[in-house]
Amino acid sequence: MDRGKPGLMAVGVSGRRFVNEADSYHDFVVAMHGDGGTPVMPAYLICDHRFIRKYGLGLVRPVVSRIGAFVRDGYLIRARSIEGLAKSAGIDPVALRETVETYNADARNGVDNQFGRGSRVLNRHNGDPEHRPNPCMGPIEHPPYYALPVTPCTIGTTIGLATDVDSRVLGEAGAPLQGLYACGNDISSVFRGFYPGPGATLGAAVVFAYRAARHLASGDPAGGTVSGRTGDSPTLSPPTNHASRNTDDFQRI
Ligand SMILES: Cc1cc2nc3c(=O)[nH]c(=O)nc-3n(C[C@H](O)[C@H](O)[C@H](O)COP(=O)(O)OP(=O)(O)OC[C@H]3O[C@@H](n4cnc5c(N)ncnc54)[C@H](O)[C@@H]3O)c2cc1C
Repeated sequence: MDRGKPGLMAVGVSGRRFVNEADSYHDFVVAMHGDGGTPVMPAYLICDHRFIRKYGLGLVRPVVSRIGAFVRDGYLIRARSIEGLAKSAGIDPVALRETVETYNADARNGVDNQFGRGSRVLNRHNGDPEHRPNPCMGPIEHPPYYALPVTPCTIGTTIGLATDVDSRVLGEAGAPLQGLYACGNDISSVFRGFYPGPGATLGAAVVFAYRAARHLASGDPAGGTVSGRTGDSPTLSPPTNHASRNTDDFQRI
């Protein structure tokens, strides 16, 4: 949630931004992988003291957290200046200073000329509606400054077992294997590796677990009508061009 709030940006060790930070965590991590270019790992979330107190950052809760404890155990990097922060984090200090200045100028104008932060529905939903002119853009200018290194993790899978609408696992010939059901991360995602929004994995897991249980309760695990395979719905086809992918592509779902 902190990534969409005004006054945070993400950079790599180059000191340059690489993504619209307010996009979904899925799109954020896709950008970290570099899309064929240089991966940005770790990425550093950069903010100032006013931001971290108001919105929190990662494990640091707004208002109440004792920030010093997070700095002492190495979770957070803190410095009185942008250049000092960069040096402590191993980021290019000259580039980071330039990036912050560009970001701050854009924040004051309310338009992110680099990545369109705040221009999408999901961005604004995760921003601060009371912040103007852009709910996702605020200057980074109140020391001390903070950097939080972040690396990708897995929350779901893309490819898995082929199943039908009753969660029955399909064999090579496409027929259900008697008595074998699967759901959650064990099956091919109905979203095929794209992220329409919160609940994309748990929602499908719950629905297909329910359908498996209902089919089992029917007392005929081998029977029933196979009306489709998970992931086959034409209405869920995502754009094939990775560069054009963003969360708003899925708002219609
Ligand atoms: C930090 C985080 C945040 C997330 N937030 C969201 C969210 O907001 N919305 C959303 O939709 N999804 C979210 N997800 C993703 C979602 O939680 C997972 O995709 C989902 O839990 C997968 O469900 P599952 O039943 O397939 O697997 P799991 O939930 O991983 O369940 C598998 C179970 O099998 C057990 N197990 C493993 N091996 C064995 C064994 N040999 N014997 C017995 N038991 C075993 C495990 O202990 C576990 O309990 C999040 C994931 C993470 C990590």
